[in-house]
Amino acid sequence: MTFSTLGLSPALLAGIAALGYCSPTPIQCQAISPALQGRDLLGSAHTGSGKTLAFALPLLQHLQPPDGRLRGVQALVLVPTRELAMQVGEVIGRLARHLPQQVKLSVLFGGVSVNPQMMQLRGGTDVVVATPGRLLDLVAHNALSLGNATLLVLDEADRMLDLGFADELDQVLGLLPKRRQNLFFSATFGPAVQALADTLLCNPMRVEIQAPTRQPADIVQRAIAVDAGRRTQLLRHLIALHGWPRVLVFVATKYAAEIVADKLRKAGLTAEPFHGALSQGKRTQVLTDFKASRLGVVVATDVAARGLDIAELPVVVNFDLPRSPQDYTHRIGRTGRAGSPGLAISFVSVATQAHFRLIEKRQQIKLTQERIDGFAVTQAAIPASTAPEAPGNGGIKGQRPSKKDKLRAAARLAAR
Ligand code: ADP
Ligand code: MG
Repeated sequence: MTFSTLGLSPALLAGIAALGYCSPTPIQCQAISPALQGRDLLGSAHTGSGKTLAFALPLLQHLQPPDGRLRGVQALVLVPTRELAMQVGEVIGRLARHLPQQVKLSVLFGGVSVNPQMMQLRGGTDVVVATPGRLLDLVAHNALSLGNATLLVLDEADRMLDLGFADELDQVLGLLPKRRQNLFFSATFGPAVQALADTLLCNPMRVEIQAPTRQPADIVQRAIAVDAGRRTQLLRHLIALHGWPRVLVFVATKYAAEIVADKLRKAGLTAEPFHGALSQGKRTQVLTDFKASRLGVVVATDVAARGLDIAELPVVVNFDLPRSPQDYTHRIGRTGRAGSPGLAISFVSVATQAHFRLIEKRQQIKLTQERIDGFAVTQAAIPASTAPEAPGNGGIKGQRPSKKDKLRAAARLAAR
């Protein structure tokens, strides 16, 4: 299939060619035509499979040509993190340049001064890519109105629909016109999120692209058994042994990100932490340096797990295991993108064995736990009957009703 058979305008086809894309990926093949026809869509395809273009192209074609009036925001893309807002904004901006009309694009997120964003919004804007909190701030300041935004995209939709964003999302939805097109995309949609999505979507088309196996084909997954206290040493050993030029290391807390990065730096590596308590300037700098290979190791919390497209990132390490199987999918999906190979390694200690088995079960994988010379496991196994489900990780998500499920159930009861 080629892009030219999907119903895209000649200007967008020129934009695609200028960006160097030859043929559409499977999710783009299946999502673009129905989205262009105005259908609501729930698009699910593995990490790195090109979901951004699958919504960016229909979004740009959705824009009405200018008629001299101030029309206000026509399309809104909501994303969970600031860095993802920048990345998605960049993709849309690069394509928009090829349209005959001038498209005003605003990328709005917190952690930076609000004034330049207010200034930028003066005179109106056509497309907004935003994190919900800052968007609502700006609406409260009358800096923009969403009353004419007839297209809503949720990227990382399952994250946008979960408890963390529930209040903000409800508020944003209340500002949008009732009649609008909705495009929801993610690599993972749990059953609870699907049900919620169904209440927001109108007769949606479901597009689900299965990876050749259940796992993304381009990511080799490994697990290594190691004593918890020796993980930093093991990480250093692996980096030295394999000569990995860049590694994204996931940990459970901001504190751990600082500590591990610090230890690596003291051992002579270029390493920086990346988490939500850093200033936005620092976050942007770390990511820019990492993308430009000026930085060898980034030690991050799950704020880096969603959507970030870091070209040719060879390795992701789960230093701490992710809390949920979905998080596992998103974390390892930072590598092995757009067809390039990737490696994902999980460190498993005695205390996290049971949690890892649960992740494996949900992921439908079974990894042989490797032992590395010089890193013999010395801690005794915890008997299965007393093994905590997920020590230090707060339990596995998705198994039992989540806090949000409970809140919803309570709301339903109260509404009766
Ligand atoms: P996802 O959102 O599914 O995780 P992205 O949209 O971030 O994936 O795309 C992943 C990578 O694939 C990006 O670097 C992007 O430039 C590239 N890509 C997207 N579409 C195509 C295509 N049709 N051909 C080649 N590369 C593509
Ligand atoms: Mg994405």
